[in-house]
Amino acid sequence: MKRTLARVVSVACAACIALSLPRLAHADEPVATAPAQLPSAPVRFVLTFDDGPDGREKDNPTESIANTLVDNPTQKGIKAIFFVQTRSSNGGATARGRALLQRNRAQGHILALHDGSSLGHPNHCGLSDAALEQSLSDGLADLATSAGRPVTLLRPPYWAYDERTLAAYARHALAVLLTDVSANDGKIWGYHGSPRRRSHMASDMAHVQDRMQRGEIPDTDGATPIVVTFHDTNDYTAEHMQEYLQMLVDEARGAGLTLATKPFYDDGAALERAALVRARDIAHRADMVPGWWPWLHRLIGDCQH
Ligand SMILES: [Zn+2]
Repeated sequence: MKRTLARVVSVACAACIALSLPRLAHADEPVATAPAQLPSAPVRFVLTFDDGPDGREKDNPTESIANTLVDNPTQKGIKAIFFVQTRSSNGGATARGRALLQRNRAQGHILALHDGSSLGHPNHCGLSDAALEQSLSDGLADLATSAGRPVTLLRPPYWAYDERTLAAYARHALAVLLTDVSANDGKIWGYHGSPRRRSHMASDMAHVQDRMQRGEIPDTDGATPIVVTFHDTNDYTAEHMQEYLQMLVDEARGAGLTLATKPFYDDGAALERAALVRARDIAHRADMVPGWWPWLHRLIGDCQH
């Protein structure tokens, strides 16, 4: 109960930050990638997780999810990208959290940056130039140890970006990866279930299918990479990860998408290549901000470009 209460408070605080700081994101940069060829290459899922690692000693969702990715009925040996908060007081800053980052890396997953500050989960648009630079340089320094290789990808908290933050990311050679499908699991609404998650996923898949038919999603290595986002700090997600993996396959087929023989990437290098192709497709970046976030950012509008 204590943990649940703490989680609700933490979620409420995160929501407060979101409501107090946000801004908007649209992309008006030039097109950087060629249009997809039609008919589209079969779909593979670029599985991503935000906000981790979790620092709990027992019943750790980051650890549980990694175990499910290794062995599950849908596809064994799945590789994922973890967008991490390297100095979160209940995650990345703990010995447990750092050990899990190294474990994920050793298992062939890709470590990428969400935030490198100790501010919790800050909207980068609300940070000063100096604070944002500190967050990025600290985060990359932390990951240089954990990731064991250069970090290429960043996902901004709250899907929030503007020209100033994009320029800061570019100075560190970080490509910004948003998402096509979101599990909407970044918050816990006081209960543990999500009765609409299947219909929500079906809706996202139908939207993906529309965009593929319009040639708006580039392919690479013979596949069309579709980015999917979960949160590895969410207990519910961890407990239902196996079900979620099969749900992705089922709902994609239900939307008429053709899946690759292996629907999920099982090679870290191929996974990172696919993610970079999507991240560098800046002409369609604004289409990869999920759900109601564009509306919220427009409503608050303090981070426009
Ligand atoms: Zn986040």
